[in-house]
Amino acid sequence: MKTTAENLQGSRQELFIDGEFVRPQSGAYLPSYDPTTGEAWYEFAQAGAADVDLAVRSAQAALRNPAWRRITQSDRGKLVRKLAELVFKHADELALVECRDNGKLLKEMKAQMRAIPDSYTYFAGMADKLQGDTIPVNKLDTLNFNLREPIGVVGMIIPWNSPLMMLTGTLAPCLAIGNTIVVKPSEHATASTLALAELAIEAGIPPGVFNVVTGDGLVTGDALSRHPGIAKYVFTGSTFTGRKIATNAAQNLVPAQMELGGKSPHVVFGDADLDRAVNGVVSGVFAAAGQTCVAGSRCFVEASIYDRFVEALVARTARIKIGHPMAEDTDIGPLALSSQLAKVQDYVASGLAEGARVAAGGNRPTQGDLSRGWYFEPTVLTEANNGMRFMREEIFGPVVGVVPFSSEEEMTRLANDTEYGLAAGIWTRDIDRALRFARNVDAGTVWINTYRSAAYMSSNGGMKNSGYGRRGGFEVMREFSRIKNVVIDYSGAMHDPFVIRLK
Ligand code: NAD
Repeated sequence: MKTTAENLQGSRQELFIDGEFVRPQSGAYLPSYDPTTGEAWYEFAQAGAADVDLAVRSAQAALRNPAWRRITQSDRGKLVRKLAELVFKHADELALVECRDNGKLLKEMKAQMRAIPDSYTYFAGMADKLQGDTIPVNKLDTLNFNLREPIGVVGMIIPWNSPLMMLTGTLAPCLAIGNTIVVKPSEHATASTLALAELAIEAGIPPGVFNVVTGDGLVTGDALSRHPGIAKYVFTGSTFTGRKIATNAAQNLVPAQMELGGKSPHVVFGDADLDRAVNGVVSGVFAAAGQTCVAGSRCFVEASIYDRFVEALVARTARIKIGHPMAEDTDIGPLALSSQLAKVQDYVASGLAEGARVAAGGNRPTQGDLSRGWYFEPTVLTEANNGMRFMREEIFGPVVGVVPFSSEEEMTRLANDTEYGLAAGIWTRDIDRALRFARNVDAGTVWINTYRSAAYMSSNGGMKNSGYGRRGGFEVMREFSRIKNVVIDYSGAMHDPFVIRLK
């Protein structure tokens, strides 16, 4: 694997098309910044429409290539399993690449990279289990069956917050099914996807099956989202961008899977185990410096324990260590982008202007090395309400608003009073109440006495403005394959084409 953190430093990265690194036709490159210093550390190619076209054509050719099309499902599964082995072998190196690109903790990235291979292995095992069905159609001497086929070239556009983990959720099943792929990673964390493309070739996956077009959203992403050769899109990113991509996909009459933003409610009842609930809320919103789509950024607390809870939350927040993402004792690192830092500062200021109060955090560190990076303190805002802008819009940073509620009915109304529907969490010892919440809340995933507990075996996805389509489990194999219905008449009889048989 050539795409290592050491090799990336000061380098220029090319596109990965048809199994090879190729220069962008425009000759344009963009800088990738190190979030701990704000300085550029390598450059990556900016793919234009012509490069995207080349990548899609390469993926189309790979669909027809006997080396991909004419291998058995089990052999395809073996290739995906081999990729899993290689990801595991290079897990620490891939983690270092992502850590330098997006500033997320090295220890967290290592854990992700060591877990990702299990997901490839899981879907590799499904390669020979995706089957069609036969349909009883009330016609004698007729066989009617559905074939399950690859859907074609899948266009994937992914964000920067956990690039390989986000990619794996659909790449692994797409490979297992026999699709081919053109992926555009985020311009803020490009390198790990290029490294993965190298590993795919090393695993024996034929050239052209997995192509990477790097560049920004407005040029490269836009070109990919308009290309008529794409059979289905996978988009993970903001609701704002999702709307544009879904519109372009609709113009080409192709489906899209949308994994978008969130403003997830995290509810704490008076009977909850307070320490567990505090830790759950802290990890739910501050992990990865709040840069997770499922961040539980609206915390609703039963009025009877509100003061006690806020006190405990503030005390726990004060113990969070902000630091360099590579240091073992760091709890939260920097934000990935300077614009993200500005956005978080703006939301906190808007909350204060609307009457909220800072109970913890609220600033960026101004002393020492941390003042050079894009760090922001984990922030608890009280005296908040659902009408405030910071409680309605996705911040994607370490900021939580805490609001009291007096009844279950009020809590449900507050929880659902959002345009989003990605995730929700509840802390209570009352199982009836917890299950009522699971039924009544508008969220694709509901966590009871836990939070951010994800698994590739179970289906996940959003509702409302958090998107549509499901990932995980066998469901995703259906989402990225297509049905072809085949009808056979084996009667051997010659039917008069103009005779209509009435019942
Ligand atoms: P973003 O929407 O800015 O960018 C995502 C991707 O879209 C990037 O690759 C970007 O280059 C591309 N893009 C931007 N404009 C485009 C355009 N006009 N046409 C085509 N492509 C374009 O999102 P981000 O800032 O990278 O990521 C953060 C967002 O992602 C948050 O909203 C977060 O909630 C969401 N997210 C959702 C999930 C989920 O599973 N639901 C997971 C992770 C992140």
